[in-house]
Amino acid sequence: MVLGNYKAVCAARAADANIRNGAQDGGIVTAMFAYALEAGIIDGAIVAGPGEKPWQPEPTIATTVDELLAARGTKYNICPNMAMIKEATRSYGLDKIGIVGTPCQMQALRKAQLYPIGVRSVPDKIALAIGIFCMENFPYDGMKAIVEDHCNVPMQSLAKVDIGKGKFWAYTNRGAVTQIPLKETHKYEQPGCHVCLDYVANLADVSTGSVGSPDGWSTVFVRTAKGETIWGQAAKAGVFEVQDIGSVQPGLALVEKLANQKISGNQKYIEQRAGYGIGKTLNNPYI
Ligand SMILES: Cc1cc2nc3c(=O)[nH]c(=O)nc-3n(C[C@H](O)[C@H](O)[C@H](O)COP(=O)(O)OP(=O)(O)OC[C@H]3O[C@@H](n4cnc5c(N)ncnc54)[C@H](O)[C@@H]3O)c2cc1C
Repeated sequence: MVLGNYKAVCAARAADANIRNGAQDGGIVTAMFAYALEAGIIDGAIVAGPGEKPWQPEPTIATTVDELLAARGTKYNICPNMAMIKEATRSYGLDKIGIVGTPCQMQALRKAQLYPIGVRSVPDKIALAIGIFCMENFPYDGMKAIVEDHCNVPMQSLAKVDIGKGKFWAYTNRGAVTQIPLKETHKYEQPGCHVCLDYVANLADVSTGSVGSPDGWSTVFVRTAKGETIWGQAAKAGVFEVQDIGSVQPGLALVEKLANQKISGNQKYIEQRAGYGIGKTLNNPYI
């Protein structure tokens, strides 16, 4: 249950080293969109492209592989990709949209497809939804405070940020690495993340994250029939190197542990809020 429905799960990485360099983990998102773009499965993808401030992403419609490459890597702050779905059809004229997003964004996407109030042009145009695992996210200023005040790294010098092994990691362009315990970052978390009961983007066509697979590799859940077809075609075309999830460390048990941790922790918070009368009207099956 905690891992959602899926047809297959594996450890994988992009076969193309150019995609992997600069990607967050195995480059699954970028490689899959690049394949889908070149194969005509999508005619553009909504990604977290570069914004005005360093490491502040902006929802961007990528219609070329170069634009996909420019959007690689995880930005640990909010990027409202869903806000672009109407624009994608209206201003960009896309008929086959790819979109990447966190579990909450995948939920919003599926709701928008079911009840397309204000987005009537969208439901049948979502061609590939890739979800990324997520424990929590931060507002931009929160992430900036973590990086600059706690890690002592100027945002301009930041090459990569990561959360893993119980720590927040900041890597600089010059190769320095700073790590701080997550207990220092908790207070900056987006409060909305604490009512989320999905760690592994259950509603995506394909969802992926680093947890469960070795460094540089990604854990990939293939969830829907559409996801299975596109993943299968891409794998057959040699886009990915794939390993059996049972043969890698730490494996699926860690994904399950963290998913349980998120769900049970957030369920407690939801129950606590219900005690104040908040959320009771939402018909939430968990309270
Ligand atoms: C807030 C957040 C928390 C995460 N927490 C976890 C976790 O707890 N465990 C785990 O295993 N994985 C987590 N991930 C996912 C992980 O960091 C990678 O994004 C994922 O493994 C994909 O890596 P990749 O190499 O396949 O992607 P890449 O090929 O590098 O592409 C990443 C794609 O994600 C898009 N993107 C980047 N930042 C955002 C954003 N803020 N919002 C929406 N889209 C974005 C990029 O534009 C790009 O298209 C988290 C991601 C985010 C954004």
